[in-house]
Amino acid sequence: MAIHPIRTYGDPVLKVRCPEVTEIDSGLVTLVGDMIETMYDAPGVGLAANQIGVQKRLFVYDVGDGPQVVINPVLSGHDGEWTYEEGCLSVPELYWPIARPKQVHLTGMDLDGKEISRDGDELLARVFLHEVDHLDGTVLVERLDPKHKKEALRTLRNRALDAEAH
Ligand code: ZN
Repeated sequence: MAIHPIRTYGDPVLKVRCPEVTEIDSGLVTLVGDMIETMYDAPGVGLAANQIGVQKRLFVYDVGDGPQVVINPVLSGHDGEWTYEEGCLSVPELYWPIARPKQVHLTGMDLDGKEISRDGDELLARVFLHEVDHLDGTVLVERLDPKHKKEALRTLRNRALDAEAH
């Protein structure tokens, strides 16, 4: 297993919808292991494949019950609203209050090709929504209200300039 660099906001790979996984092979098993290791190293509670530059529709997460993988996730049954200080490994060290559905239902596949069906509430729903957003090519900055988005883009721009200057 290997830890991969995490792609950050502005990288084109984060802006493209990841196509469905069509085959579960040893390469995919290795990828999932690498994603879990990279997520723990960060550390984070979720990681989508395109965050390490791989255009495949799967993500890993761990909200305290051990590492989980979801292949070809599909969300349904969005319900309620919950605002939470949300961050992203691709936009390091920045957090914003973001309103999203409080509950959501997730289906998909595990590494054995078995169907997964899970209900998410609050933090778990947040992880599902955030990671599926990644797989659709959406980073949380796009979910901010206009005022926070303007501030976020300014901060990220200054950061980029700062990095260039050093
Ligand atoms: Zn993220």
